[in-house]
Amino acid sequence: RAVAPTAHLEGLNTEQRQAVTHAGGPLLVLAGAGTGKTRVLTTRIAHLLLTGQTRTSQILAVTFTNKAAREMLDRVASLIGGAADGMWLGTFHAIGVRVLRRHAELIGLKSNFTILDTDDQTRLIKQLLQAEGIDDKKWPARILSGIIQRWKDRALPPEKVTGDDAGEFASGKAADIYRQYQERLAEVNAVDFGDLVMHCVTLWQKHPDILAIYHRRFRHILVDEYQDTNVAQYLWLRLLAQGTPNVCCVGDDDQSIYGWRGAEVGNILRFEKDFPDATIVRLERNYRSTPHILAAASHLISHNEGRLGKTLWTDAKEGERISLRGVWDGDEEARTIGEEIEALQRDKHKLSQIAILVRAGFQTREFEERFITMGLPYRVIGGPRFYERQEIRDALAYCRVTIQHDDDLAFERIYNTPRRGLGESALRTLRLIQRTQKISLFEATRRALETDELKARPRKSLGDLIRNFERWRAMLDGMSHVEVVETILEESGYTDMLRIDRSPEAEGRLENLKELVNALQEFDSLPAFMEHVALLTDMASRDDTDMVSVMTLHAAKGLEFDTVFLPGWEEGLFPNQRALDEKGAAGLEEERRLAYVGLTRARKRAYVSFAANRRVFNQWQAAIPSRFLRELPPAQLAESSDAGLYATYSAGHHGGLRDHASGFEYESLGVSGRRGRYRDETADDRRAIDGDRVDLSIGQRVFHQKFGYGRIVAVDGNKLDIEFEKAGSKKVLDSFIEAA
Ligand code: ATP
Ligand code: MG
Repeated sequence: RAVAPTAHLEGLNTEQRQAVTHAGGPLLVLAGAGTGKTRVLTTRIAHLLLTGQTRTSQILAVTFTNKAAREMLDRVASLIGGAADGMWLGTFHAIGVRVLRRHAELIGLKSNFTILDTDDQTRLIKQLLQAEGIDDKKWPARILSGIIQRWKDRALPPEKVTGDDAGEFASGKAADIYRQYQERLAEVNAVDFGDLVMHCVTLWQKHPDILAIYHRRFRHILVDEYQDTNVAQYLWLRLLAQGTPNVCCVGDDDQSIYGWRGAEVGNILRFEKDFPDATIVRLERNYRSTPHILAAASHLISHNEGRLGKTLWTDAKEGERISLRGVWDGDEEARTIGEEIEALQRDKHKLSQIAILVRAGFQTREFEERFITMGLPYRVIGGPRFYERQEIRDALAYCRVTIQHDDDLAFERIYNTPRRGLGESALRTLRLIQRTQKISLFEATRRALETDELKARPRKSLGDLIRNFERWRAMLDGMSHVEVVETILEESGYTDMLRIDRSPEAEGRLENLKELVNALQEFDSLPAFMEHVALLTDMASRDDTDMVSVMTLHAAKGLEFDTVFLPGWEEGLFPNQRALDEKGAAGLEEERRLAYVGLTRARKRAYVSFAANRRVFNQWQAAIPSRFLRELPPAQLAESSDAGLYATYSAGHHGGLRDHASGFEYESLGVSGRRGRYRDETADDRRAIDGDRVDLSIGQRVFHQKFGYGRIVAVDGNKLDIEFEKAGSKKVLDSFIEAA
């Protein structure tokens, strides 16, 4: 028998080697960021294979994302010098599907079952609510859908949901609808995401013989990012682990960032209790980051109370301090970061080694536009690019139809979004008229309304829709296009649809819409904006291999880059408002862990920035620098050249920050030509907020930039009816009016 190879162990430190070669029995590697946990897991798999202890088919490895699974598979293959075929390596969901396809009939499904997305899920629940006569306005399907997801995160099938769990929803009917929902899914041979884990748990609990198959199969179970498992995933693992003592979990309690989705950091803290005789290995040497980055991250996370605490050290060269930069607003933030990246590029740094990590999805927009303008290739990881996101496409479709009623593609996209009770028959009627009369769908709808072809409900809702589009179109002549779009989003019911939606995604979608409105302000008219977007999407579709990565902090878990930009460190954005509003410190501590995750993604360089002003939905707001900035040790920081802003931030250490930041110092800021514009806009906003507007009275003669002179006929809030001398009567906004 040949001597077992050891090349794969070279370069590992003692603790890593201990974990990799650990003979058997439960093993927990509990260690901070960048200490090689994932590397240990991968090398351990290779070790088990290379030393002939195990075959690929006997290994089950669970990762947090599909991307991580692919990388791990590649790495194992290169370590063992061949493909690792037959190994089960993937996310809980991916492995769950695999199990369920094999035994579908035992849980009342066929093996070709479909997997529903959240939209399908909500639609189904809505039908059930309607059938029960439950008022969908009062008890929205989306909320129930969220409640059901949480039950599934806890592996609670309908029969295990108790009265207490069911709560107030629809006077306690939630559990019953949940039961019907599961029945309905079985009837249509479908599952939702939560089922992928929960059904496995049920299957194994009810059929020990099936569980035994997996017990015989899997001799080694390995789990990465164990701190973010939820209760259902935990039960899933425990059931499988009954078959083998060889359970190896790696994780970091400081990086638990999915509490809002039901993850239980308690799972990792309880490992020793769950698996008696567990070996615990702690890794303290960080191989990823420079001492400055490591010290800053460690200091920051030390502000959290509920943690195990750990020491981290590194041998790396000192490197650069963390750059801390205050900027005037988001636009300047994107511009400076763009310039830094160009400088790095000139110094021959690879774009693929640069990442921008944001707290909220909407923040990618400003960077994407800047990069496109610069011709800098980028990719958005973990989600679509800003203008390709569903809600943005929907909103743009509304804009397109408003500008051009005959835009059929756009009209088809939204004429039933939000739902307007248009069934198949109504749609057939419209398409028939469209085809036979060779006209647009919009026009066909208009004609259908003149006939009795449509039933009462679609007739009413389509009538409203057509009239709305005509009205919105007319508004473009008198109102600012920004307000028109805001009106469209409101009056179409689109924002309401998202508002009643309590799912975590809905909030991000609303934020994206607000960001879209922000983007509109930079253009003079809606058509000009639409043209800009069309060009952007065109340019964005080119494919480069060396690209900057843009993503949320959540999506960055486990990844690393030479250079990391961390923009938007402001109160209310990061930490986010929800965490600030919450009672207790749990939300804030999770935000801080997210900041820790962000900083520790950087190998060599980290750039943290904050803006003094953010435009939120058509209004400039003075922003307060994030409390996390104050938790970074000054010794690790390098101030940016905008010393004035840094002084503002420092002043925050001694309180009084808000006044200071809002009142502040137009004078001390740069000399760019844009300053004046900002100042004006800010003044405008103040005026709007303070009610300090020009006094306008009925009968007064005024001047409008577009329509010329006229007299005020009526005043309705900030909208005015004016009889113009040349243009006739128009409704306009008071901000476009001057006293004549
Ligand atoms: P995170 O908590 O962020 O997931 P991690 O603990 O999983 O981090 P890894 O991603 O496995 O850490 O390792 C971080 C970096 O350090 C990687 O680039 C890895 O290749 C490198 N590394 C780990 N161990 C060693 C070692 N013994 N020698 C050299 N480099 C190492
Ligand atoms: Mg890792």
